[in-house]
Amino acid sequence: MKILIVGAGFAGSVCARELAESGHNILVVDRRDHIAGNAYDVKDVHDILIHQYGPHIFHTNSERIFNYLSQFTQWRPYEHRVRGVVNGQEYPFPVNRDTLNQLYDLDLSEEQAAEYFEKVREPKEKVLTSEDVVLNSVGRDLYEKFFLNYTKKQWGLDPSQLKAGVAARIPTRTNTDDRYFTDTYQAMPLHGYTAMFENMLEHPNITVKLSTDYKDLLAQGVEYDHLIYTGCIDEFYDYKFGKLPYRSLRFEHQHLENTEQYQSVGTINYPNDFEFTRITEFKHLTGQQHPATSIVREYPTAEGDPYYPIPRDENEALFKKYKSLADCEKNVTFVGRLAEYRYYNMDQVVGAALNAVDKILERK
Ligand code: FAD
Ligand code: UDP
Repeated sequence: MKILIVGAGFAGSVCARELAESGHNILVVDRRDHIAGNAYDVKDVHDILIHQYGPHIFHTNSERIFNYLSQFTQWRPYEHRVRGVVNGQEYPFPVNRDTLNQLYDLDLSEEQAAEYFEKVREPKEKVLTSEDVVLNSVGRDLYEKFFLNYTKKQWGLDPSQLKAGVAARIPTRTNTDDRYFTDTYQAMPLHGYTAMFENMLEHPNITVKLSTDYKDLLAQGVEYDHLIYTGCIDEFYDYKFGKLPYRSLRFEHQHLENTEQYQSVGTINYPNDFEFTRITEFKHLTGQQHPATSIVREYPTAEGDPYYPIPRDENEALFKKYKSLADCEKNVTFVGRLAEYRYYNMDQVVGAALNAVDKILERK
């Protein structure tokens, strides 16, 4: 089969490789001038490896997905740590026992920390929104200090307007584990994401065409037996039911000369100050040694490239209208964060792409 794949991110590249291995002829097209989608990393002009579209930390509990990607990269073990600034002080985040002890000048044991959360939490019969999730687990004061304003900034919405799944990404801990993730596999591609994608796409059956919109290719009469689409689903259908909201970010990259280390951990969150949500210093993530450093600040915006689907009932209802059209397509597969309108992490996109390929191969 001749297969056209729109998008060279995780979704498109995994599909490309798998279908190429099965002997199909693959053309991958991306409108950007690079592969790797939002996971793209590149050396900046000061020779520091940065993530152009914000910090990407790989983590998964799936041995299958970790082994799959291990065909294309070696790894550098890395456990991400985040601290949240409240009233000018940095605290471990997600909230753990040390956060409580430092914030309230306490000396709680693990058991006492559990009792503390039990005392301050506002139990909810139904946990439907992100506000419910946080109040139900840590109560109002921690909600207001760490979650309320960060969420308003990140999404332009109150936590009560967002589905539970958004805040449920963040655990609450009674121990002193200060890792952001607790997955079995936590690592960064040793030579970066872009190098991993280069290996994935390096196959005699794969051609990659960059800086090209697939609609231009269609206009030029490109032919295919099957299309895999990883862009925004509403755009595919020319917004016929209206625009699906996606949240965007403006990334402000900065290089700091004569600063070997800017901050104590990979990412520092600023829930209550500034217009950006967080600052990431890449050298923590990549392990690169360099006498200077590079950081990025993330400013959430309503307009701009689509980065996040916005999990709300009304958006999901609109998505379903598009999905009902997608389900009727015989020769088109929709996969990935934008096409499925799902708040996927990278590993989940790899899993979704592998499943999508299985379905295509079964059907043909
Ligand atoms: P994308 O990477 O968005 O790829 C889609 C591609 O399709 C794009 O390159 C786009 O240019 C192309 N395209 C769209 N329409 C067209 C068209 N008409 N013609 C041609 N090309 C087109 N996940 C984690 O697991 N860990 C993290 O730490 C993490 N951090 C993140 C931080 C930020 C700031 C963001 C935004 C995301 C983060 N993610 C993280 C999520 C991760 O980026 C995504 O899960 C993953 O990159 C999605 O891959 P994808 O292939 O579905 O989409
Ligand atoms: N969040 C918050 N305060 C923080 C960090 C996260 O309120 O300091 C909430 C916020 O709503 C955010 C969500 O938890 O959008 C998920 O956070 P995560 O770090 O997983 O977001 P991502 O890395 O995907 O942007």
